[in-house]
Amino acid sequence: MSMPPPPGYDPRQQQHPQQYQQPPQQQQQQYGRPSRMSDSSLRLVWIYPDLLSTYGDRGNALVLERRARQRGLAVSRIDVRSDQPVPTSGDIYLIGGGEDRPQRLAAERLRQDSGLARAVDNGAIVFSVCAGYQILGHEFINDLGQREPGLGLLDVWSTRGEGARSVGDVLAEPDPRLGLPTLTGFENHQGVTHLGQGVSPLATVTAGGPHGGGNGDGNGTEGAWRDTVFGTYLHGPVLARNPAVADLLIKLALDVNALPPADTTWYDALRAERIAATGQPA
Ligand code: GLN
Repeated sequence: MSMPPPPGYDPRQQQHPQQYQQPPQQQQQQYGRPSRMSDSSLRLVWIYPDLLSTYGDRGNALVLERRARQRGLAVSRIDVRSDQPVPTSGDIYLIGGGEDRPQRLAAERLRQDSGLARAVDNGAIVFSVCAGYQILGHEFINDLGQREPGLGLLDVWSTRGEGARSVGDVLAEPDPRLGLPTLTGFENHQGVTHLGQGVSPLATVTAGGPHGGGNGDGNGTEGAWRDTVFGTYLHGPVLARNPAVADLLIKLALDVNALPPADTTWYDALRAERIAATGQPA
């Protein structure tokens, strides 16, 4: 839906005007067509914090909210518990990681509630982590050892890794089309995810745990994406370690190519620390 930028949202008047210089052509594209936004505020929807927030994924919601507010955007965040319907009018949906049983319960409820699929049909952005990522795929192995259907929003399917659980810090080089710096995250999963033709790997693992890190599919891939739907195995929380990913989600929601800069001092310190933990130079 077409709408004007939020009142007072002038990138030239943001915190660091001296650093905010874009070529005129790009400037024209900025903030002009927030077509995916349904009203004057950015609507974040965090799906099932009661089931899928075992691994600190609340931080993703907090970082996303903060990075949007730092750009002068009005933000509303809806935390949808598993006994509530998933609204279809969100701009960005977050779905986090969880243990095997809550993951099955979340999948059951999300299959019954078609809200997320309808939101995606409307062009919403979805960012999913670990259990949430597996749920977005065609199927995964549940806590009963059975094949559990997912939502089929990403062309991936997950099996159960035969070896030890994949646990540890990971570094990965993102798909260059996404314009992101190196990704850092902490993985903790038993599942192995296989990618179909309908998605691209989110990134290629460059440093990982003893089992290769990321999807664990033997191809060195990490996560998957297509259009506005993203999945990753990276916790950390991943948006705290990779604020550029939060910014990418906001840019997609606004349908702009760039955002005014926002301070990254603490994010940078965290990134450097966690990159060093993998034994790689920061
Ligand atoms: N239960 C899933 C697995 O172990 C996902 C774990 C997670 O979300 N960290 O593969």
